[in-house]
Amino acid sequence: MAAHDGNGWVSCRCGQRHWGRFGAAGLLLLHPDPTRDGWRALMQLRADWTHQGGLWGLPGGARDSHEDVVAAALREAHEEVGARADHLRVLGEHPGVDHEDWSYTYVLAVTAASAGPDELGPLTAESAAVDWVALDDVPALGLHPALGSAWPGLAGWVRSLLTGVTGGA
Ligand SMILES: [Zn+2]
Repeated sequence: MAAHDGNGWVSCRCGQRHWGRFGAAGLLLLHPDPTRDGWRALMQLRADWTHQGGLWGLPGGARDSHEDVVAAALREAHEEVGARADHLRVLGEHPGVDHEDWSYTYVLAVTAASAGPDELGPLTAESAAVDWVALDDVPALGLHPALGSAWPGLAGWVRSLLTGVTGGA
């Protein structure tokens, strides 16, 4: 049990290798967008040199052995884009991929009222850019394939969780 002991590849029964010895998690962070009466999602453009570079995804990464998926997603988002756990509220988690040997979980959070969207930005070389994208516009981005295939289900889950959540609450 040590920091970053989740870093490593898993040879999965699906025939592929995945990053994260204990699986991985990503943070879908939303910020209210009053101009469109909706929400914007924090999207990360992966640097060209990375795996799946040049495509948009979510901040996230490997889970460490002592973490749950929420802790892993929040830590990775803090490391990558500066998201602070005390400036957001976690609404839930959603299974993305589950191959038994490896899994990926989406964690949904909304920014706290006190947190402005401008305080976040790319902090590591893995990120080429960070942008707040209207939820409806996310599918039109060049998405990481796993996120692209998960998005329709993810979007429905997000909308169900956001019912009754007021912007910035
Ligand atoms: Zn697999």
